[in-house]
Amino acid sequence: MKIIKTIAQLRSYRATLIGSVGVVMTMGALHDGHATLIKEAVAHNDHVIVTNFVNPLQFGPNEDFDKYPRTLDADAELAETEGAVAMFAPTVEEMYPSGPFVSVSAGAMGTKLEGAVRPGHFDGVVTVVAKLLNLVQPDKAYFGQKDAQQLQIIRRMVFDLNFPVEIQAVPISRDPDGLARSSRNRYLSASERETALTLSKALKTAGTSMTDARKLLDDSDVDVDYFIAVNPETLEETDNGEALVLVAGKVGTTRLIDNAFVNLSNSLTT
Ligand code: AMP
Repeated sequence: MKIIKTIAQLRSYRATLIGSVGVVMTMGALHDGHATLIKEAVAHNDHVIVTNFVNPLQFGPNEDFDKYPRTLDADAELAETEGAVAMFAPTVEEMYPSGPFVSVSAGAMGTKLEGAVRPGHFDGVVTVVAKLLNLVQPDKAYFGQKDAQQLQIIRRMVFDLNFPVEIQAVPISRDPDGLARSSRNRYLSASERETALTLSKALKTAGTSMTDARKLLDDSDVDVDYFIAVNPETLEETDNGEALVLVAGKVGTTRLIDNAFVNLSNSLTT
């Protein structure tokens, strides 16, 4: 598999590809969750390019940009095993050569929930996604349901700004015990991992009772940022019908997110 470091190399490589191209955008530290996205892309495209870039724009000043795991060799191996043809792994200087630059705004949807806890995060996400779509020029781009708000904002960006790409959602990949796979899970100690399971347990409980689910979280050591049922499209809070239940919080110093679709007509909400 080809590892591509520069924009010039990527552009000339892209020009050689005949047939459909799928892209999977990642920050590296690839795990089985990323593998499900690559598998899905490989099944539906002639060529799959994986991008691997820890995007400084989407990290706050006190977040884990410096310590975010960087495992390029292992990532390339996993992507190749899953059938990707190339990995685009640029440096920060290659992606952002000039200091102040034009960027994309995620709008109102980018300032709530994750965006309220991480100001500027989604502007950073959509800016890098816009750049990577322009660079890779894929027919289809694959994103995980794990980052539900990100997925919805990217859908809106592609719709509102007329990017010629199909956005494909891939269901959440979980460890056998229910924990949503995440590059940040490797920060967790054994006991923190136990605590982290409360997130997926609460989402399961939300199917029958939002009240019991909230109590599970309140009684745990998870420092909850939000636990909320929203309309899956608008991300506005809701208390009826088909909803997306989103949860986020810290376990020790590690911030985790998870979500599930829940029919609130079957769930007690008082
Ligand atoms: P990241 O490297 O964390 O930025 O994630 C890259 C892509 O993989 C995003 O579209 C994520 O939503 C997706 N992803 C990460 N973890 C999972 C998971 N457990 N299940 C499904 N998709 C995931």
